[in-house]
Amino acid sequence: MLLKNSKIIVIKIGSSLLVDKNKKIRKKWLSAFAKDIQKLKSNNQKVIIVSSGAIALGCIKMNFNKKKLKLDKSQAIASIGQIELMNLFSKIFSKQKLNISQILLTLEDTEERRRSLNAKRTFENLFQLDFIPIVNENDTTATTEIKYGDNDRLASRVAQITNADTLILLSDVDGLYDKNPKLFKNAKLIKKVENLNQDLKNINFKGNNEFGSGGMNTKLEAAKNCQLSGCNMIIANGLYSSPIDKIIKNNNCTLFISKTSKLDARKKWIISSVSPKGELIIDDGAKKALTNGKSLLAAGIKNVVGKFKKGDHIKILDKSKNECARGLSSFSSDEINKILGHHSKEIKKILGYISKSEVVHKDDMVEV
Ligand code: GLU
Repeated sequence: MLLKNSKIIVIKIGSSLLVDKNKKIRKKWLSAFAKDIQKLKSNNQKVIIVSSGAIALGCIKMNFNKKKLKLDKSQAIASIGQIELMNLFSKIFSKQKLNISQILLTLEDTEERRRSLNAKRTFENLFQLDFIPIVNENDTTATTEIKYGDNDRLASRVAQITNADTLILLSDVDGLYDKNPKLFKNAKLIKKVENLNQDLKNINFKGNNEFGSGGMNTKLEAAKNCQLSGCNMIIANGLYSSPIDKIIKNNNCTLFISKTSKLDARKKWIISSVSPKGELIIDDGAKKALTNGKSLLAAGIKNVVGKFKKGDHIKILDKSKNECARGLSSFSSDEINKILGHHSKEIKKILGYISKSEVVHKDDMVEV
């Protein structure tokens, strides 16, 4: 099975797996999960855990209601709860002789290339020291605009950065269904997805979006990032005891198969951005040029959406708003608004200074 052959596995667990509806911590579950991890490790597999629960555990300690928390309060609660979370892991994992470490990430840590390489090195060093990194978003300083917002996308970025073979999103349903399983008895579990756009085109995710904290949409976004960067992804039910063992034995989950990616590491990083800052809408001529591996020039841009700086991640969409590529912009959105539709030779005159002639250089761009 695919999981058995994975050298690096990232496993994401949500708050609802650690804390039940009565706000009791699911220690038994975590103990069984630790045994799962122990088995993977004894098979020489490297494991990273992305765990939510800082706010949930902070709320339990302080006897607060999560739903009533304003942002600044929830940041303070996350700061209190993160220690509780790590203490919980430390206590339970040490019984299996598993060493753990903590990595708290902010969006820039993965979206800026240099910082993402630093993070990669830290993960590698922790593997060498035989410690299991437990990752969460640094909720104590992140505000809405600069947040991953959900740990599904964070986990997919961690998987890409660490070159993981498989990402497992442990959810509260068995996987992806063709209909909402909570509303339709005849909903069927989709066991395998090889081509996201093709295989899922007849599914309406609007009514399907209530499971898991990030919902099914963030899981599919994570799946897209994984497929493009050459990592397989599994959505499985984490509520069962020993969920990883269950995946291996019962295979009752959704597996997103990724083709082997021919992209180099930098291009994988570009395509897996979790926070493109804006969009460029391009005409048919420019789209054709992109398909032929050419750079994006100002002349082919019809519209700019969003506000971004030079060097930021952006999406490139065709006239019908279908995403055709992602890349790093060589100009800010304000500059592009001035030069769009113009020939590259005119850029210097319009902006009043010398700049690049491509808006997105082909080396900074990946087709979707
Ligand atoms: N980082 C948040 C926490 O630890 C959770 C985010 C999520 O569940 O997706 O509470």
